Amino acid sequence: MAALIRNLLILMILIIIGIFAGLSWMLENRSPNHDYSEFIKHLYQNEIELVELTGNRAKVTTNKGFIYQTTVPDPAQVAARAEGKNIRVVFFNDYSTLIFQTSVAFLIIALILVIGGTMYRNKIRAEKSRFASDKLIGPHKGHTPITFADVAGIPEAKEELEEIVGFLKNPKQYSQVGGNIPRGVLLQGPPGTGKTLLAKAVAGESGVPFYSFSGSDFVEMFVGVGASRVRDLFKEAKKNTPCIVFIDEIDAVGASRTGSSSAGGQDERGQTLNALLVEMDGFDTSDTIVVLAATNRPDILDPALRRPGRFDRQINILPPDIKGRIKILEIFAKKVKLAPDVVLAAIGQATPGFTGAELANLVNEAALLAGRKGKSEIGAHEFDVARDRILMGVERKGLVMTDKDRNALAYHEAGHAIIAKKLPETDPLHKITIIPRGRALGQTQQLPLNDRHAYSYNYLRNRITILMGGRAAEKIVFNQRSTGAQGDILQATDIATSMICKWGMSETLGPQAFVIDDSGFLGGPSQRLAMGNETSRQIDQEIGELLENCYQEAIEILSQEQCLLKNLAEILLQVETLDNEEFEIITECSIKKEAADPPVRKDTCSTCPAIDNCGHNVLTQS
Ligand code: ADP
Ligand code: ZN
Repeated sequence: MAALIRNLLILMILIIIGIFAGLSWMLENRSPNHDYSEFIKHLYQNEIELVELTGNRAKVTTNKGFIYQTTVPDPAQVAARAEGKNIRVVFFNDYSTLIFQTSVAFLIIALILVIGGTMYRNKIRAEKSRFASDKLIGPHKGHTPITFADVAGIPEAKEELEEIVGFLKNPKQYSQVGGNIPRGVLLQGPPGTGKTLLAKAVAGESGVPFYSFSGSDFVEMFVGVGASRVRDLFKEAKKNTPCIVFIDEIDAVGASRTGSSSAGGQDERGQTLNALLVEMDGFDTSDTIVVLAATNRPDILDPALRRPGRFDRQINILPPDIKGRIKILEIFAKKVKLAPDVVLAAIGQATPGFTGAELANLVNEAALLAGRKGKSEIGAHEFDVARDRILMGVERKGLVMTDKDRNALAYHEAGHAIIAKKLPETDPLHKITIIPRGRALGQTQQLPLNDRHAYSYNYLRNRITILMGGRAAEKIVFNQRSTGAQGDILQATDIATSMICKWGMSETLGPQAFVIDDSGFLGGPSQRLAMGNETSRQIDQEIGELLENCYQEAIEILSQEQCLLKNLAEILLQVETLDNEEFEIITECSIKKEAADPPVRKDTCSTCPAIDNCGHNVLTQS
């Protein structure tokens, strides 16, 4: 292809040069050049017989038969002067300028093409040669190696990979007994769980070269480039065995070829994937190359990748549990200065679902906050603020809310909190706030005491009721429905749908799944399986009933707790944020008071206990 273009270019340049040569020969015509003034002189003296004009060029023949050329400023004027004299004037069409201009344009285009083409080819060549050796990291390039000590919270994955390290360090020990090392190990799990870190640790521990790529490195605009990169990479790797090749985001090249992904780039991806498979199949048993690959979309990977001899080992890497989180925090804590009031176990408990990367981010945010305040150590307060910022987004200080909206928001959040408190089998409250953060206006946070791995029917149902608490409070107090409950309703619907369609929690429909989840570790919408109209109608009815019942229950609870609701909302309007302890005091006060007096009637909130009368002064406490 490139050669063809080059040949065409050379041909074009030759043609252009030819045209120029012919043209100048024609114009020159081997006759001498004379000045214009001389021509004028001859003209006045009637010494001229013939003038042949081609554009501004004039070929002059004198009476004596002498021929010369000259350039005239205005051919029309020459014709006018010759009038009335015995001079023949002949005009020729002037193609020369046209030809000249066209050829100049051609030449410029050709030049640009040649220069651009050369630059592009050089760039590709440079990139190709740089590509493989550039991605080499590890002991040979003088980095401090990452080891298994830098990885925590994923013990199973570590154990599996320790075996690989053993092999890389001492391949003979395994081959002696006839064992073959796995060629490919697929690390699959959500982003930020430490897949890259683990791969680097394997390289660091075994002390072998480590080639690191991202799948997107191989996906290029031009078909064939990715495939040739794969071949270059393995050529380079084979020179440096034993070694590790790490391909991050392998789904970028390894997505199922039959999948529904867009047609563009499909060809290129298919070729790249094929090249990868061919290379992996072609390892000699003597080539000690281990290919590690990471993905968070194992569901879309081409099944061919998992065949024996390729990525025949798959390791699931999930976000750490509470013990793991504390261990990971301990690793990061060694790199920063912590104040004595920081309890890592408490932070670990307050960060359910956080991945290693998020914990790293948490420690960093806290350090930045401490630095901004000029502190020499990171305190527990900084961790708290950093955590809120990561979980809920930055406070939106600029957002101006009307008093009416703020009022409604306070009742809304108080509604969530009270239901969370009153219902059994719920997570303890962590924080209630009416400070807008991120996309939410206010928040009521609950934190599980332990990481939950399974949820009971009651827990889930109560969770929906808590979510309905915001809307219910607004309905009871202001008799209004606002958009503030949008997020709550969406989440509630999601839970209810899962309960009925995924977890078989409906009495009438029984333990049957009606949806499938197929989005890997990233989470996403699930798809309803094919079903009859009647079943579909029943599902909708069940979901609707569940949601409605929960809403009614929320209304009921809050109707009985109107005093507490009003009390809590008013305090929230003043202090904006309450933690669990403060919240407990407020609810306990009301409860005590209610128990002492005859039960407070719904419409007599004026007799509600003032918070100061309880012996605890929450307002001055915070
Ligand atoms: P992934 O490749 O799974 O997306 P990374 O390995 O890139 O995640 O993790 C990013 C960073 O998060 C790491 O460099 C490390 O600082 C931190 N991290 C993630 N998981 C762990 C873990 N299990 N132990 C220690 N640090 C971790
Ligand atoms: Zn809400």
